[in-house]
Amino acid sequence: METNVKYEEVAAQVAEACARAGRAAGEVAVVAVSKTVGPDEVSCAIKQGARNFGENRPDQLMLKADQFTDATWHFIGNIQSRRIRDIVGRATLIHSLFEERHARKIDEVAREHGIVQDVLLEVNVSGEESKSGLAPADVRALAECCAALPNVRVRGLMTMAPLGDMAAARKAFAGLRALRDELQSDFRDCTELSMGMTDDWPIAIEEGATIVRIGRAIFRPA
Ligand SMILES: *Cc1c(COP(=O)(O)O)cnc(C)c1O
Repeated sequence: METNVKYEEVAAQVAEACARAGRAAGEVAVVAVSKTVGPDEVSCAIKQGARNFGENRPDQLMLKADQFTDATWHFIGNIQSRRIRDIVGRATLIHSLFEERHARKIDEVAREHGIVQDVLLEVNVSGEESKSGLAPADVRALAECCAALPNVRVRGLMTMAPLGDMAAARKAFAGLRALRDELQSDFRDCTELSMGMTDDWPIAIEEGATIVRIGRAIFRPA
């Protein structure tokens, strides 16, 4: 079958970038962001070895996570209170938590399900007005709030870098890493760094990413 799905190629590039950065390939998980494609492409990526997928809309998460139950699903989109029930449990990891009221709601729903929901705190490292996420100075307060919620576990931090400016992207990634290092002494589970997309993932790997979220490079338009 003719396919535009390039998971295998991208995974090999990620492994090479890890080697160049002196890191083991197993240290970096590739989340294939499938938000622009349907089940056929997801299925094709799975055949090429993809295990982790990311969605930014609850409807698409529900549809695909319920169809591909062997894959691991990540929620990377904007969180809305009324959709938290659709996300908790389906998403193994929620990357985009930055509001206390959402943390409390996630805790409540996770408790009903009898699970602990893993989350990342989204940080607006670059301070761009168009971007969502916590200001770096506010990250510790939300981490402390979550530490008091028994059914929410903060596994790390996530950021989106400024687009089209590689120096600014590197600065944002290094900033996220520094924040993570600072938190880790008090919050043991806070180890992950979700950073790097199609245009900037090689830099993110150099700066310590443990999760890269790659869409367009994997699911190319025909
Ligand atoms: C769409 C999206 C990605 C993937 O972006 P690409 O540039 O297509 O690789 C990563 N993270 C988030 C939060 C996204 O919304």
